Amino acid sequence: MIENESIELEAPKPTVEGAIASIQALAEIRGRSFSGRHPELGKMIKCAICSRRHRSSIKCEQKFKELHIEEDLETGEKEIIYATVPKTRNGIVGAAAFKGKRLKPHPNRRMLQFIELVRELLPNEYTEEDLAKARKKARRKLSQKLGRFGFLPRKSAPQKKEANVQSV
Ligand SMILES: [Zn+2]
Repeated sequence: MIENESIELEAPKPTVEGAIASIQALAEIRGRSFSGRHPELGKMIKCAICSRRHRSSIKCEQKFKELHIEEDLETGEKEIIYATVPKTRNGIVGAAAFKGKRLKPHPNRRMLQFIELVRELLPNEYTEEDLAKARKKARRKLSQKLGRFGFLPRKSAPQKKEANVQSV
């Protein structure tokens, strides 16, 4: 009872937990990045629309080229036709994903051996059927020598029954 009265008279003292929490919170705020301390400005981003670096608070809008104006002869309504993104891989995924990549990658050492063996097996003149047969033969031969990876389909992994039992 005496302790309670003394607390009421004095200025409120923070508890040990409270003091620790306040120190931790201040340290956390001081340790934040610029965008953390100024959330209204946002982080620096590599903008895909204007292809510049700026803060995420700046919202860029994509502008399409106006091609021509189409007019409906009956109603007289006018519609602006915009240029659209072509349905190529660059148009859909973006050119950045393919930058510096070969269109036809060079075959690796395993594949080179495969190509060599197929050419060895084929006569000078051959049909599609001969080619398919030679490929099959080469695949089987090389998988024995170098392992099946890339030559034969993957062996299906054995299913785990124990995991199911444990989860139930
Ligand atoms: Zn932008």
